[in-house]
Amino acid sequence: MGVALERFDVFVVGGGGTGSEVALSLAKRSDLRVGLAERDKLGGECNHYGCIPTKVMLRSERGAESARDVSRFGVHVQGVHVDFPAVIERARRIIQQQSGAGARPFEELGVTVVPQEVRLVGPHRLEAADGTQIEAHRIVLATGTEAIAPPLDGLEGTPYWTNKEAIWSPTEIPESLLVLGSGAIGIEFAQMYARFGSRVTIVESEDRILPSEDADAGAAFLPVLEKEGIQVRVGAQATRAEHSEGAWVMELEGRDPLTAAELLVATGRRPCLAGHDLEAAGVELDGRGYPVADETLRTTGERIWAAGDATGELLFTHVGDYEARVVWGDILGSPRPRDYRVIPRVTFCEPEVASVGLTEEKARDAGRDVATSVVAMEDNERALIEGQTHGMVKLVADRRTGDLLGGHIVGETAGDMIHEVAAAMTSRVPISAMGDMVHAYPTLSESVKWAFIRLAEGYDAPDP
Ligand SMILES: Cc1cc2nc3c(=O)[nH]c(=O)nc-3n(C[C@H](O)[C@H](O)[C@H](O)COP(=O)(O)OP(=O)(O)OC[C@H]3O[C@@H](n4cnc5c(N)ncnc54)[C@H](O)[C@@H]3O)c2cc1C
Repeated sequence: MGVALERFDVFVVGGGGTGSEVALSLAKRSDLRVGLAERDKLGGECNHYGCIPTKVMLRSERGAESARDVSRFGVHVQGVHVDFPAVIERARRIIQQQSGAGARPFEELGVTVVPQEVRLVGPHRLEAADGTQIEAHRIVLATGTEAIAPPLDGLEGTPYWTNKEAIWSPTEIPESLLVLGSGAIGIEFAQMYARFGSRVTIVESEDRILPSEDADAGAAFLPVLEKEGIQVRVGAQATRAEHSEGAWVMELEGRDPLTAAELLVATGRRPCLAGHDLEAAGVELDGRGYPVADETLRTTGERIWAAGDATGELLFTHVGDYEARVVWGDILGSPRPRDYRVIPRVTFCEPEVASVGLTEEKARDAGRDVATSVVAMEDNERALIEGQTHGMVKLVADRRTGDLLGGHIVGETAGDMIHEVAAAMTSRVPISAMGDMVHAYPTLSESVKWAFIRLAEGYDAPDP
């Protein structure tokens, strides 16, 4: 291998979106000698097993659903059929468009790509799977996360799906699907497979769906799942899973067992740090197993940074991109402290669930004197016209200081609309000024304006 005895100024471990952004930005902006290792596919989880394939599949699912539903608007379509292999083929094509160039864009900028697993073995030292030794003045861990399954009796060694299998393993739509976990990933797959034709049941141990979102957001979205025939079991503790003869049985504490043809486990992620000699490199981990890192994402290891999902902060591509900028800025001598105050989050279900900043609960936990405003989507004329009235806009502010602390939107295009709230938070625009801003009619964004007006009036609207 060409890199065997070479020394790098910066070596990036992991060629997902984050690691790629670090390597390419350094190569564009400096003369530093940059190397990057990827053991699987350049583009990482987002391109191959996450954002892109799921959003492609969601597009097909939405097409199917709107064709079925369009008779409400006086248009009749007969015989909706989902061609699952064609859906997957489209996902493959789009991934190929995105990352088909492989290592070329890196090499054109002078980045050396090492297409194998590389592990930290000491300060400034790495070792590739083929035994090659690598010396690097600075190292960036952009190693991402992987799906984790709960220690559920009977689960280990069984062919349950994680996000990877849910995209790439089925050749046809399963008759039924159990989804364990109702975070963003669980919800997106649950609605997708239900609309493709599976009978779907969601099992969630917390007392509500989308547990990390504002309670009102989950409550506004739940009726959509129920209307679409998805069974939702919240506060349900799975105690045992059994797979035999191509079928699953899941036992729940104090409830009837559930059965299904397939099981998707979407209960969380863990860092991909196995195999590294972190101790030798001086990288300490926190209680969750992620590297302890300072304001500019320097770990406790000498000149070793962490970025992206590897930090365990907010597991989103745009957060990885942001953290990549923090890291390459620090490496190039322009440190700026990381700040997660205004990070949009979107679950791409339909209607979308989007949020930024603090939930009402987190704001209260932080000791804020909380004021909220809630506007129901059913009061919005555009929502009525579109026939999609489930949802709401909720704003969370500090009553005493007037600071806007968070926003939560459930509605069509919520993932776009949330940026109005994010912009107001970023620029610290007064709440009354946002309410004064003229919004086009009829748009869903008018609900955001009304939420600002109500908040400015100090009026706490009732729950939607
Ligand atoms: C189903 C699903 C849907 C998602 N949808 C969205 C979405 O819509 N929007 C959004 O913002 N986020 C979404 N995400 C999250 C998003 O995919 C991640 O936040 C993003 O991929 C993180 O990028 P990363 O580069 O930090 O990590 P990764 O993309 O995980 O990349 C890390 C890379 O490091 C490589 N690697 C690890 N260890 C080594 C080693 N020792 N040597 C060499 N290579 C190594 C891995 O092979 C991997 O390719 C989704 C995730 C999932 C699972």
